[in-house]
Amino acid sequence: MKHGYLRSLILLFAFCGTAFASSAGPGIPADEAVKLLKDGNARYVAGQPTHPNLTSERRAETVKGGQHPFATIIGCSDSREPLELIFDQGVGDIFVIRVAGNVAGPDELASIEYGVGHLNTPVMLVLGHTACGAVTAAVQNAKLHGNLPFLINQIKPAVAKAKAWTPTASGEELIAKSIKANVWLTMENMFRKSSEVRELVKKGKLLVIGGLYDLESGKVEWLGAHPDQAKLLTAPAKAHVQMKPKHAPAPAAAPEAAPAKPEAADQGSMVAPAPAPPVESPAPAPAQAPHAAPAHQ
Ligand SMILES: [Zn+2]
Repeated sequence: MKHGYLRSLILLFAFCGTAFASSAGPGIPADEAVKLLKDGNARYVAGQPTHPNLTSERRAETVKGGQHPFATIIGCSDSREPLELIFDQGVGDIFVIRVAGNVAGPDELASIEYGVGHLNTPVMLVLGHTACGAVTAAVQNAKLHGNLPFLINQIKPAVAKAKAWTPTASGEELIAKSIKANVWLTMENMFRKSSEVRELVKKGKLLVIGGLYDLESGKVEWLGAHPDQAKLLTAPAKAHVQMKPKHAPAPAAAPEAAPAKPEAADQGSMVAPAPAPPVESPAPAPAQAPHAAPAHQ
């Protein structure tokens, strides 16, 4: 009798343990969330993915209990960069925004706010990738049709920055530098245009980091926090934040993304200086982002 009780207890703990392990959730610390992404990418690179959380039970669990992803990620739509796969994650694990060139326009910003502000993911990753066609089009000033110019124009400031960093760069080198500059630019736009993102970072509730995905090796290079994050958090109304060239090339200062402690950037009292960010802010309240709202939560 007693043994049976004990066994049930052990089984219960074992079950809870499993459930816990399979759904990291928004409550985990940012560095743990980053580790989950790093470990998942390492498994993918090694050709040993575990393909977690793809069962019917997981689907049922996430429908019944709602979604509780541990990271929000914006990445390019490029078919060679499938985000759940490259981080070896499954259903309900990561909140993903994909758009060509990983740009942060109003729709993307609204989706990001839904992920970090409503679903409370502790980490926000901006992921660019090698040989990005959208960035290449911006670098080459390609003739574009339909709605593409609108999208590609959002990347051109990154090309300008890359040229400012390395005036002699051209061809492949300029494309590579622009891809990295475009990651910083998307982060910069998030800070400048989303007071919600700024406040979450200031309060230490959100870690915003960048990364570069190598299409060939499958490996993510972790870029860490935006080099000018502290400045961007305190002076969001500035039209353009000068990024010093020294930040551009090889991120000698912070190569391994030292999961920049959000506290470091926390300027506490200097909360949101008054004037509204200069740019059109995403209209819908984040809580109502219609495309993302889980109907049954
Ligand atoms: Zn791309």
